[in-house]
Amino acid sequence: TPRVRFAPSPTGMFHVGGARSALFNWLYARQHGGALVLRIEDTDASRNRPEWIDGIIRALAWLGIDEGQYEGPFFQSANAEEHGKAVERLREAGRAYFCDCTRDDVIARTGDSYKGYDGFCRDRGLEAGPGRALRFRTPDEGTTVVIDLIRGKPAFENHAIEDFVIARADGSVLFMLANVVDDMTQGITHVIRAEEHLSNTPKQQLLWEALGVQPPIWAHVPVVVNEKRQKLSKRRDKVALEDYQAEGYLAEAMRNYLMLLGWAPSGDREIVPWSVIEEEFRLEDVHPSPAFFDVKKLRAFNGEYIRALPVEEFVERSRPWLVAPYAPWTPEQYDEDVFAALAPLAQTRVSVMSEITAIVDFAFLAEPAVDEASWNKAMKEPAAAILAAALEAYADVPWTAEEIKARTEAIGAEHGLKLGKTQAPIRVAVTGRTVGLPLFESLQVIGRERTLERLRKAIG
Ligand code: GLU
Repeated sequence: TPRVRFAPSPTGMFHVGGARSALFNWLYARQHGGALVLRIEDTDASRNRPEWIDGIIRALAWLGIDEGQYEGPFFQSANAEEHGKAVERLREAGRAYFCDCTRDDVIARTGDSYKGYDGFCRDRGLEAGPGRALRFRTPDEGTTVVIDLIRGKPAFENHAIEDFVIARADGSVLFMLANVVDDMTQGITHVIRAEEHLSNTPKQQLLWEALGVQPPIWAHVPVVVNEKRQKLSKRRDKVALEDYQAEGYLAEAMRNYLMLLGWAPSGDREIVPWSVIEEEFRLEDVHPSPAFFDVKKLRAFNGEYIRALPVEEFVERSRPWLVAPYAPWTPEQYDEDVFAALAPLAQTRVSVMSEITAIVDFAFLAEPAVDEASWNKAMKEPAAAILAAALEAYADVPWTAEEIKARTEAIGAEHGLKLGKTQAPIRVAVTGRTVGLPLFESLQVIGRERTLERLRKAIG
């Protein structure tokens, strides 16, 4: 049975690409009755932060990969003894040698740019000492063929694989080695990870072989790119899963969308229940070409997921956006029944949950949050006359959306205006904005008194 692992380095916010790798690993393990190991690759102490480790664990749980779903977390730093033993074995077997060359030394010998290590110290027989790193001796002949479930059998000429450093002069080991030794320690059979690591794979497979252990099967999932076909970067693109969560993306929408980065369910479908994904996903079907992370599409996806919620659940899941720090109103101003009445109107109009706050704020704030530009636009002639007529008509109209609408239409007719034009100044007076929830339903919900008060205030 397979043992797979997700092995993030906690050097930043947890990335959507990482989340996709985690999902692929998780599904592969579940589908084959195997196990998922979570390993935190924390050996680069200068770039690690504890909050980033927590962030990874929380984000995974948000996606459904909670602590019950994996073994661990294990920490790479805790496996230092095994790393050291492996280095020692390689050295004793003559598969590694000490080297005191600096990069500049190599460049001076091989030309004006660094094209990889030239093997200068291979046969110098240096002993351990200050400034001496340990390099792995790669074979001069033959090819290293890796079995990759997504890419077939990429072959690498051994003579083109440089003798790479496995341990620094201070004894600390490098990623290349620690990563392999951890996989051995944890009994990993399948390494499913980002394409960025494909170039490391022949080196790592050589290490497996040199240490006398059957190498794993590999699967390099496609690189994730933005609309300019550039690899997603945290400086340029919005990549942190946490930011999407904070903006009100639903975990189930996110999870569904992430699965599409390299894979698709059967038929012409993209939005599918998780049960279908669990059933249909095949790692072997993942496409190797770059996957476009389309934020617009993700938004649209999320909107669809929001609309598909039962309204009670929509109300429940809106809660975080109806209180501080998101909501600008006080707990006393908030009214649960008012929100429940507006919820069905809001549900069809938001793409991310954070949009809820602004779309209903008029119902809770003492005064509407007025958008200056909208106000100026809507309050042109004959706005004053319309507001005055509405104030009068609304004073005794039966307080239902249909009746209010009928009266408003009548007012418009007197000015030769369509309903849309007629309601613009009323909407701005009551909600502060030119767009929003259906107006007459909104008026019905907030009540006659507050409506009249706002009209009066707008007339000034
Ligand atoms: N720690 C590595 C990374 O975050 C992962 C290496 C691997 O999956 O083998 O890129």
